[in-house]
Amino acid sequence: MAVRVDHAVTSGTFSLDGETHQVDNNLWVVGDDEECLVIDAPHSVEDILAVVGDRRVKAIVCTHAHDDHVRVAPALREAVRAPILLHPDDRPLWKLTHTDELWDADLSDGQVIEIGDTALTVLHTPGHAPGAVCLWAPDLGCVFTGDTLFQGGPGATGRSFSDRPTIEASIKAKLFALPGDTVVHTGHGEDTTIAAEAAALG
Ligand SMILES: [Zn+2]
Repeated sequence: MAVRVDHAVTSGTFSLDGETHQVDNNLWVVGDDEECLVIDAPHSVEDILAVVGDRRVKAIVCTHAHDDHVRVAPALREAVRAPILLHPDDRPLWKLTHTDELWDADLSDGQVIEIGDTALTVLHTPGHAPGAVCLWAPDLGCVFTGDTLFQGGPGATGRSFSDRPTIEASIKAKLFALPGDTVVHTGHGEDTTIAAEAAALG
């Protein structure tokens, strides 16, 4: 059964360092007709469930722990009885949003997450956040980059727990090593490709 990528946009807020901004987040669901992975849990359980449909959610995979990516992760976990996966280096960010609850299992670089007849490979790409990860789906020709790489360049590094040289090193080592025609599904905004961003960043 073919694995596909489903997408929606959901809106809410992002808060860090005492500032709050309105944001639109991409919502990505990867799976077949039976089971799926939810990538990030922004803003609205209802919006996520609308994309999931009647499929079994195998896991909620968080690209990083900024509140606009994990705010409804525990509520979604309750709704679908699936584990939350997060890289442990994002513990300090997670604790800013969820003081009483934790995620269920740690992500690690190189980990393979199977879904349907395919698999995603976890790429640890610190910089935007210390525990930021990208999820590479070689069979699907795409990578889910969260806020590490956008159309137009690297994710923001101006706030706490971020670092510009670190994100550039992550992108060059882990993302620009992928095939150039790999489609980049981002945490916010439009898709891009590895080749287009590699050409822009140099
Ligand atoms: Zn972020």
